[in-house]
Parts: sequence; C-alpha cells; structure tokens
Amino acid sequence: MAGILFIISAPSGSGKSTLVNALRSQVGGIDFSISWTTRQPRGSEEHGREYHFATREEFEAMRDRGEFLEYAEVFGNYYGTARRSLDEAKAAGRDLLLDIDVQGAMQVRDKLPEAVTIFIMPPNPKVLRTRLRNRSRAEGQVDEAVLFRRLNEASKEIENCREYRYILVNDVLERAVAQLEAIVVVERIVQAGGTIDIRTRRDFEIAESCREINSRERLQPVLEAFGIFPDRRPEQYQLLEAIDDHGTEGNPGN
Ligand code: ADP
Ligand code: 5GP
Repeated sequence: MAGILFIISAPSGSGKSTLVNALRSQVGGIDFSISWTTRQPRGSEEHGREYHFATREEFEAMRDRGEFLEYAEVFGNYYGTARRSLDEAKAAGRDLLLDIDVQGAMQVRDKLPEAVTIFIMPPNPKVLRTRLRNRSRAEGQVDEAVLFRRLNEASKEIENCREYRYILVNDVLERAVAQLEAIVVVERIVQAGGTIDIRTRRDFEIAESCREINSRERLQPVLEAFGIFPDRRPEQYQLLEAIDDHGTEGNPGN
C-alpha cells in the first residue's frame, strides 16, 4: 500500500469534521490521527477519541522531547501531531489523515512534500457564521467572543488556500463528500503508479476539478466574499479606492 499522508485544513466551522467522518465511514484503509491539544474538551468530546487532551506543561514536555511531527498554537492553545501516529500508520501499511491548521500543514508539507494537501472552504462568511453558531448551540455553549474570533481567523486561513493541492467548497454536503472520496481514490491509484480506467474516470474528473490550479475561477467569488482579492495587483487596489471615494461622494445613497 502507498501509505499516503492526507492533510486536511479548513477554517473552524467549515464542516471538516463532518466531511472527514463521512469519508471514514465510506472509505477503508485510512487512519485518523488523533491530535494532542491543550484546549478544554467541548461538548461530548472524549480524551483519546477526538483529541488527546493535555496540560500546557505536558504538551511542552512532549514538544521538548521531539515527539511532534508538527505543532502550532491555534486560538491560544497548542495543537500537535505525534510522530507516533505516522509511524504506526506506516507500520500497519495504512493511509493517514491529519486534520490540522494551515501552520501545521505547511510544516508537514515542507518535511514530506509528497503529502496530499486538501483545503476545505466554507461557501461564504454568512454560512460559516450560521454553522459555527448552530454547532455551538448543539454543544450547549454559544460564546459570542469565540465565534467572532473564529470568523476573523477564517479569512486569514483562507488566504493560504492556494498553498494546497486540492481545494473544495463545502456547500452541498453530498457533493463535497464525493469530491473528498474522489481525491482519495485517485491519489491512491496515481501514487501506486496505476492508470485511470473507465471505472475510475469519473473520480479522476471530479478530483481534477478540485485541483488548486483548476479551481481559480470557481473560487474567485468565494474568496471575494471573505474580502480576499488574490488576483488584484496593488495598483488595482489603489484604483478601486479612488473609484470608491469618488463614487461615495457622487452617490450619497450608495
Ligand atoms: P469543522 O470541523 O470544520 O469545525 P463541523 O464539521 O463541526 O466543522 O461543522 C460545523 C457545523 O456545520 C455542524 O453543525 C455541521 O453539521 C454543519 N455542516 C457541515 N457541513 C455542512 C453542509 N455542507 N451543509 C450544511 N451544514 C453543514
Ligand atoms: P478545534 O479546536 O476546533 O477542534 O480545532 C481548531 C483548529 O486546530 C482547527 O483548525 C484544527 O484543524 C487545528 N488542529 C487540530 N489538531 C491539530 C494539530 O495536531 N496540529 C495543528 N497544527 N492544528 C491542529
């Protein structure tokens, strides 16, 4: 087996856990790395299931012993992937999926460039806000300050989406799940040196459509909704500001 490392990142609330759970229930041979974190368990989370929960001191001791493949500070808490997860998956001949933030993903990609990086986008800020709020409600704790911070962070993370090999927009859940599955199927074939045949052609087309390089046009409106204008040069920003100033003066109703 290939022993492929899949790395998935997304702003909090984009639906990454939902997609990953759907993937795991439908595709075999893939282990899920359980990260270590210093944040408090949320809702029904259990130690050793969603995360290994640790104190800051415990986490720092592990870090100092070099036990992490990567780690990062996210929302004021440490999160890290134990090297052991990767070693165990390799020894068992299974693929491994990491659900980690952008900083961690870039650390792993630099160490292991063959890792398959996937970024999951929320369709727009309004939907993201609603999903975050609904999830908090379901977990019985809506903290407006936390929601606000997570929304702010989202735009910063989305700015980095083009560093990933694949980008998918989690709008219609079934479609996003099918895209994620197609990426796994196709990477397994390609990394094993196989060829795409009539049975796998459809998966290949779906995966190709999610490649960063093929998603640019489709992503433009999503990025703009988050206030990110990747294809605009600095002079165009200045021009827009000038138009905006002028427009505002001339059209008080706008
Ligand atoms: P993340 O793991 O990225 O923080 P979750 O998987 O917990 O996000 O999803 C956040 C909320 O959005 C959950 O309540 C989930 O049920 C909902 N959700 C996820 N994907 C979709 C989707 N495609 N359409 C509608 N709701 C979704
Ligand atoms: P949450 O607290 O919502 O579970 O996760 C917050 C963020 O931390 C998410 O972006 C998630 O992907 C990221 N994260 C979870 N585990 C790890 C990890 O092991 N390393 C890094 N770098 N980020 C992680």
